[in-house]
Amino acid sequence: MIQKGQIGVTTDNIFPIIKKFLYSDHEIFIREIVSNAVDATQKLKTLADVGDFKGELGNIAIHVSIDRKKKTITVSDRGIGMTGEEVEKYINRIALSSASDFLDKYKENANAIIGHFGLGFYSAFMVSEKVEIVTKSHSGDAPAVKWSCDGSPEYTMKEVEKPDRGTDIILHIDEDNKEFLEKERIESLLKKYCRFLAVPVIFGKKQEWKDGKYADTGEDNIINDTDPLWRQKPAGLKEDDYLKFYRELYSFSMSDEPMFWIHLNVDYPFHLTGILYFPKIKNSPDLQRNRIQLYSNQVFVTDSVEGIVPEFLTLLHGVIDSPDIPLNVSRSYLQSDRNVKKISTHITKKVADKLEELFRKERSRFEEKWDSLKLFVEYGMLSDEKFCDRALKFALLKNTDGKYFTPEEYKTLIGTAQTDKDGNIIHLYAADRQEQYGHTEAAREKGYDVLLMDGQLDIHWVGLLEQKLGKTRFIRVDSDTVEHIIEKAEAANVELTDRQKESVTEAVKSQLPSIEKTEFSVDFKALGETARPVQITQNEFSRRMKEMAAMQQQMAFYGEMPDTCQIVLNVQHPLVRELVDESNLKDKEQLIAQVSADGRLKQMVDLALLSGGMLKGEALSNFVKRNFEKI
Ligand code: ADP
Repeated sequence: MIQKGQIGVTTDNIFPIIKKFLYSDHEIFIREIVSNAVDATQKLKTLADVGDFKGELGNIAIHVSIDRKKKTITVSDRGIGMTGEEVEKYINRIALSSASDFLDKYKENANAIIGHFGLGFYSAFMVSEKVEIVTKSHSGDAPAVKWSCDGSPEYTMKEVEKPDRGTDIILHIDEDNKEFLEKERIESLLKKYCRFLAVPVIFGKKQEWKDGKYADTGEDNIINDTDPLWRQKPAGLKEDDYLKFYRELYSFSMSDEPMFWIHLNVDYPFHLTGILYFPKIKNSPDLQRNRIQLYSNQVFVTDSVEGIVPEFLTLLHGVIDSPDIPLNVSRSYLQSDRNVKKISTHITKKVADKLEELFRKERSRFEEKWDSLKLFVEYGMLSDEKFCDRALKFALLKNTDGKYFTPEEYKTLIGTAQTDKDGNIIHLYAADRQEQYGHTEAAREKGYDVLLMDGQLDIHWVGLLEQKLGKTRFIRVDSDTVEHIIEKAEAANVELTDRQKESVTEAVKSQLPSIEKTEFSVDFKALGETARPVQITQNEFSRRMKEMAAMQQQMAFYGEMPDTCQIVLNVQHPLVRELVDESNLKDKEQLIAQVSADGRLKQMVDLALLSGGMLKGEALSNFVKRNFEKI
């Protein structure tokens, strides 16, 4: 009996569309065909388990082979197979409703079209001029059939002899897709998409180096690990198993071991398994991004999870597997899928759980790892409100002595000494231990504690902490003089007339070297006789704006602005008092001429610049020369 017919496609012809438009993801045909073979095999195993299939299962491996002469790729399974009626039902009738609209809309996106129509099998036509199915049902009663279709809507189907149950899918690869007849190409695709499928997939024989060339051994080349670690019960697994699996996943591309991991295992309200590893996050986190592989029932979906899981989680490594993740859909569809969203929320929660548990149970280990973990946690806190609220319990502040505190602990530590007159708890920090050494030591000598905030995201993070903690302000140690950095009382009055201020300001400015992109203002404060006469500070707010601008394009305007620094004159210091007194007796020009001849003001200004790390280049060299001459 030979049957002929038209494939039930309501639009004129699906094939030109499959061939022409679905160019981007041609390679996924292999995933579709092999995972159909896995499904068919698993269905038979299920039937056997419940006693509906009484025959011998025998060897159920799937074979993939290439015949370069015939230009075919064959995928053979020993699964349930199909009767002629079943081929008619499952292969010939493709339900295409409102097809043309949809095709028009998604013609650029192979995954969307394939997924929408359940066209897994038909993806074979992306690379084939003809596809044959030779299949025999497990039931044993029906004869085997051979279905054949050359890419027109017409197919033929006839009875054939096939000794064994199961299905062979034979793809006659077309001229444009010859690359898929290369052994290496198919092997790498199988490794990509089929690496963890649940039924063994065999691609030829293992090879060994013999007599100057590679030759087949007698051993099957099994592509996949059918029982990947993430599908196993966590209780039976050891630390070494997880590390070994990590190395397997990334082979040689990652030298560092992960710090710790989470084994995900959820049955309700959705299914999710997986292992997420926390890598040591380096200064260039982007290189480590996008290492999470997404699977659906052990079938590889994608390794770029951006947009699917929250951005900060893309810094983690490992595997997520859920049958609730749709396999054949576009990225935008994945992003809006409800299950995918639930999964993503769940993972965020698990990550917070893990970190909190580690913090509570193994605080010292957690502290040891904090520096490598900090960027990840800060990123999470800045981008995910829920995660932020959880992380406030275990995020750590590190001080310049290398001690760690939670935000709450730290508030208690500094509360008494560092509360200002308005009741704000002032958190002092250094962003660069060396550059702000002088200011840091001055603060410490005064009995203040100083934090170290030298991370990439710290500038944003301190802003976030200020919002979250309430009555808390972060101020960099060089934002003000140590006497005023935490205002305990109303500042002492500086009794200077406008005229005095004006001429002293002019005199100070006349002694300043010109520093590129920096503007100075002069400020007068009563800091006591023993405090330094001249100090340089930079306002916390404007500096922070500038630093944030440097990281964000939209705010480039701020980044262009010059730095504004304050030169603070201590009016209670004898040298400054002398200058003020002089300003009463002389006009501006005379005063400038005098301070220039005298040299001491220049020396004070330079010393202040020097201790703020701002005396550079020519100005520094002049300073050194001048001082040598004095010796
Ligand atoms: P899907 O797998 O999403 O249902 P496909 O187009 O890939 O869609 O396959 C359609 C149907 O054809 C399958 O549901 C299955 O019933 C049948 N089929 C495909 N490949 C095989 C196979 N190797 N063995 C048995 N049945 C198969």
